[in-house]
Amino acid sequence: MFGQIVLRNKQQLQTYVKDSKRQGKKIGFVPTMGALHAGHLSLVKIAKQHADIVVVSIFVNPAQFAAGEDFEKYPRTENSDLEILSNYAVDAVYMPRVAEIYPEGFSTKINVGSIGEVLEGEFRPGFFDGVALVVAKLFMQVLPDYAVFGEKDYQQLQVIKKLVRELDFPIAIIAAPIVREEDGLAMSSRNIYLNQIERSKAPSLYKILSWVKSEIISGANIGVAILAAKAKLLESGFLTVDYLGLYDSACLESVNQYREDARILAVARIGTVRLLDNLSLS
Ligand code: AMP
Repeated sequence: MFGQIVLRNKQQLQTYVKDSKRQGKKIGFVPTMGALHAGHLSLVKIAKQHADIVVVSIFVNPAQFAAGEDFEKYPRTENSDLEILSNYAVDAVYMPRVAEIYPEGFSTKINVGSIGEVLEGEFRPGFFDGVALVVAKLFMQVLPDYAVFGEKDYQQLQVIKKLVRELDFPIAIIAAPIVREEDGLAMSSRNIYLNQIERSKAPSLYKILSWVKSEIISGANIGVAILAAKAKLLESGFLTVDYLGLYDSACLESVNQYREDARILAVARIGTVRLLDNLSLS
């Protein structure tokens, strides 16, 4: 039915990986939680440019959801995901069950340290430890040469780079630019939670971040520009601004002077949905 091999457990995956390596093929890996959109597909395309074969994983990782978050209702669209991927150069899709990744009695933890405690980490304690745990496990199972992560989740990308560096994973991490809707809204599986009115307001986030960027580049006071941007977001219908600021693009410490390599990161809530976005100053 579909153009790619579907691997549902670790044994099937490991046989596939072993065969591919025996044939001298370089493996590109794109981890996802499914509910695929054009952002995910751009990662696949980039993986294919580097590797001979591309493995996509679809796994909604319970370790990165806190109690009361949307683990249960996170969109799961397995059939349409497989159909979408069959039109792309994806060689295998790994869709393990939760018990495959976290068998009964599983207790190992990873703590990524302070980079996981700021920004998103402040609002979602333990989130990046859960991300790092599943990514480390998937890396050990898929044994990729390359893995592609989106800049959409910019802090996550930096956490993964640090994880790979500090635990000596022999894997090249490739960053993929943010894919946006025509009106500027960064694509996300959670955008389907937005109702019509919220959806119409959501692109303001990107517009306002672009405005702050131009202010900072043209020499405006950074603190003043950021405060004004927060006010604009609230005026545009956002309920809260969890954070909005200028940060070092690798360690994510706050930056208060113009630097080309700094990054504007923001999360603002509209209805019940937290929208993440970021922009490079360069
Ligand atoms: P998710 O399924 O949301 O966990 O995302 C899987 C991967 O796709 C992560 O590396 C994300 O950063 C990336 N991704 C999600 N949305 C986008 C987007 N709009 N543009 C680029 N990459 C994205």
